[in-house]
Amino acid sequence: MARYKGPVCRLCRREETKLFLKGDRCYSEKCAFERRAYAPGQHGNARRRKRSDYGEQLREKQKVRRIYGILEKQFRNYYARASRMKGVTGENLLQLLERRLDNVVYRLGLACNRSEARQLTLHRHVLVNGKRVNIPSFLVKPGDEIEIREKSRSIARIADSLAGVDRRGVVQWLELDKDNFRGKVAAMPSREDISIQIREQLIVELYSK
Ligand code: SF4
Repeated sequence: MARYKGPVCRLCRREETKLFLKGDRCYSEKCAFERRAYAPGQHGNARRRKRSDYGEQLREKQKVRRIYGILEKQFRNYYARASRMKGVTGENLLQLLERRLDNVVYRLGLACNRSEARQLTLHRHVLVNGKRVNIPSFLVKPGDEIEIREKSRSIARIADSLAGVDRRGVVQWLELDKDNFRGKVAAMPSREDISIQIREQLIVELYSK
């Protein structure tokens, strides 16, 4: 499936917030958004007009899509599924996105960003309950065990990422066994577990028009 392959810091500047798409650089003073916190392009620094309601909704949707690295069509499918589930649609949507295997690999600290986690998954380095799963969109559930297969544990970028996990922290709904390159899904992710500021209600408003 096609992916955005352009400069990712540009996406943070476009969304006017840090999306943490790179890894360690995002936490350092080299972060492009820390240095130029305005939209990219020739007129990015100009005073911008107030956005319409539609503009706000669209930007929020784009922001979430970019955080999780998902294309429009697949994102719409997630929304359709979330709206069929019991409960609050916006929260269901975020829960589905959080349960993606590539996100879980990233959240456990086995990769330093979601695109790297996606690549590790596609390249068959990840096991779920002892079986190889190479589908980044695979949805995990409580009780699932995720690990890096033994042969792949010497990959330097995995060790590098794990080395920074104490600083980044692991979300409450996951348990990490750092020494064994393994993690477990302890519970379903709740809304409080998603620390990035997201106004999911705006996405619901956009798609329910
Ligand atoms: Fe965004 Fe990270 Fe680039 Fe900063 S370094 S602009 S947070 S991707």
